[in-house]
Amino acid sequence: MTDFNGLAPEFLQSVRGKRVLVRSDLNVPLDGTRITDDGRIRASVPTIKALADAGARVVVTAHLGRPKGEPDPAYSLAPVAARLGDLLGAPVAFAGDTVGASAQETVAALADGQVALLENVRFNPGETSKDDAERGAFADQLAALADAFVSDGFGVVHRKQASVYDVAQRLPHAMGGLVAAEVAVLRRLTVDPERPYVVVLGGSKVSDKLGVIDNLLGKADKLLIGGGMVFTFLKADGHEVGKSLLEEDQLDTVRAYRARAEELGVEIVLPTDIVVADSFGDQASARVVAADAIPADSLGLDIGPESGAAFAAALADARTVFWNGPMGVFEQPAFAEGTRAVAEALTKVDGLSVVGGGDSAAAVRTLGFDEAAFGHISTGGGASLEYLEGKELPGITVLED
Ligand code: ADP
Ligand code: MG
Repeated sequence: MTDFNGLAPEFLQSVRGKRVLVRSDLNVPLDGTRITDDGRIRASVPTIKALADAGARVVVTAHLGRPKGEPDPAYSLAPVAARLGDLLGAPVAFAGDTVGASAQETVAALADGQVALLENVRFNPGETSKDDAERGAFADQLAALADAFVSDGFGVVHRKQASVYDVAQRLPHAMGGLVAAEVAVLRRLTVDPERPYVVVLGGSKVSDKLGVIDNLLGKADKLLIGGGMVFTFLKADGHEVGKSLLEEDQLDTVRAYRARAEELGVEIVLPTDIVVADSFGDQASARVVAADAIPADSLGLDIGPESGAAFAAALADARTVFWNGPMGVFEQPAFAEGTRAVAEALTKVDGLSVVGGGDSAAAVRTLGFDEAAFGHISTGGGASLEYLEGKELPGITVLED
């Protein structure tokens, strides 16, 4: 039987003395070489530690940022290796390449229970190649470094990439504890959720999240809309949105969702007030206006206080909540209060509260909330959204064979 909060016990019992390649998601935000939020590293530790404690020679592979298929020092995982070592309480050997001489030497030098991290997997063009043969050739090189594979990078399981997908076809494999836990929570959001079920969506791009709206409209009781996507909704309702983010080509889709929501009896809640500014990030000019009276020369950067309170009220009796996307430009204090109001309301939910999305998870932490106050903070933005859209995730499906 699979233990859903960890690695399958029979797999763990088989790894002593074996080289186990672990695909983790260590894609953390960096300021130079300083890690500004180590949430993803911390989330990856339990699986790595479980394997090391079981006597495996653990070889971790991961990506950082979007380098262009060649080495780029700005995207080196070296700072991550150091932090991972701190969190594990044991040194992590760092290989200066992914599958080259340094990787081979580093892996060969591992003793049972030791951990190595390979340099950014996306320094290799084969990792993200759309060409199956090129990807496969790179996966062969990765697979040659190990005896077994553990897929634990939830943030990348929606990608058909060499270190996520192809390598699983080449080695005995297992689902990591983080991926298993994420999937178990997402299943609770889609199969028979406890009601009322409230979904809060925000962030910068409507088009990214339309599929989720589409799929969750039939499941949720209420949909609260904040962040940059608000303005496409307001515009669709006939209001002017000034210089705010607007996706003109999505107006018809948004109108169709409004109509379908009405048919299904799902309430879509839009903000009634907006914090606007004269230009992007101009905190000095921040002021609150009515949502249907955004001045032509301003742009909306957060939901207003009345809306924050209304969203909190809508969340108060929820038994299931999924939240993706900040309500405003939370990176700046003048535009962070809407996101704070929603985060605060989630901490009070009596039931399952799930935060999905890299920026949303970072917002919760940078605004100083205790992560333990939330039911689950997902490490994967795109992956959780695709799951909720009802799409098949190649990195999960491949593990089922
Ligand atoms: P997540 O990573 O949680 O899925 P997104 O990547 O979709 O979230 O969006 C996060 C970004 O959206 C943040 O950087 C935030 O500053 C931005 N954002 C939120 N509201 C607005 C807005 N009104 N205008 C412009 N950008 C916004
Ligand atoms: Mg994001």
